[in-house]
Amino acid sequence: MRIARVATRAFRIPLKEKLVSATLSLTHRELLLVTVETEDGATGTGWCTTPGVGALAARALIEAYLTPLLIGEDPRHTERLWSRMWTHCHYAGPGGITTLALAPIDTALWDLRARQAGEPLYRLLGGSRNAVPAYASAINSHLDQEALLAQVEGHMREGYQAFKLKVGRPDPTEDVARCCAVRELIGPTRGLLLDANQKWTPAEAVQRCRELAEFCPAFIEEPSLSDDPAGHAHIRAQAGVPVAVGEQLCNRFEFWNYVRAGAADILQPCPWKVGGITEWLKIAALGACANLPISPHGAVELTAHLAAAIPNSLAVENIFGLGLHEVGATTVPLAVRDGMIALPETPGHGVVFDGPALREHEVR
Ligand SMILES: [Mg+2]
Repeated sequence: MRIARVATRAFRIPLKEKLVSATLSLTHRELLLVTVETEDGATGTGWCTTPGVGALAARALIEAYLTPLLIGEDPRHTERLWSRMWTHCHYAGPGGITTLALAPIDTALWDLRARQAGEPLYRLLGGSRNAVPAYASAINSHLDQEALLAQVEGHMREGYQAFKLKVGRPDPTEDVARCCAVRELIGPTRGLLLDANQKWTPAEAVQRCRELAEFCPAFIEEPSLSDDPAGHAHIRAQAGVPVAVGEQLCNRFEFWNYVRAGAADILQPCPWKVGGITEWLKIAALGACANLPISPHGAVELTAHLAAAIPNSLAVENIFGLGLHEVGATTVPLAVRDGMIALPETPGHGVVFDGPALREHEVR
């Protein structure tokens, strides 16, 4: 079995409404799609998305430097191909655009393998369970408290058991009031998850987390700049709230730096940021070695498979407003019922992109 073609397409898709966090304002989603095809016509599809920067650069990297490494290779050799591509691009960067470019290729190779095996992806990867919990995640800094509570209440009615909200407002008393109101609404047993999107210095983070600890958040995500494991170790030791990191980390070494610094309670690898499934599984195993749970970041259509494959996963993140079906990129909505995602039994990852709907957003 040999790879004959690698097709790459990029899209810039407007969101239905603007989404705001402590450090970002999102109006578009970039989507990069890669299809790998073998000489005998077998195919696999992979994708990554970005909040508005990076997909076009990743496409250029794939077309100029990565596709030539793949043509003629056996697509089942996912370890060999990942290492080869990563080593080839390492000078340009061991993460960032490099891993964003690797992710859709590696995902396409795994999809192809699963389709050839006639197995759903989660089972090919290990099959720890056939359904996973999802939590309701929202980029909701722009909502006033009334709208925030209405949003959480809506997700509660849909059966979700945990809810993530953005913190890091300029006025700390507003974060306290919002967390207090949400905790009151969801009651003592449902999960409250907080995300500061790297907003604070370590010292600020300690202070702000101490003010929020009484609402028993399950974690504070990215309290400070992701480039600073030592700062997070300080926060973790002082803040009184479990620390979750991973959204911005790009490979197993960056995660290992956090683990060995004692800087994280929960690891949140995103398959797009870390270069796809091959590297994501290594990070999940690193978490298992350190007795740390994995709470996958974003990419819910894919992380549902990954979380179902491993033994140490927590709920996957369903970010409202950014799902592939919500932005019009796929024909079939994600099947979430009472906060649970049942994995498809069809071969591969089962995600089918909506070609005609995407065409108007294509960037050539
Ligand atoms: Mg986040």
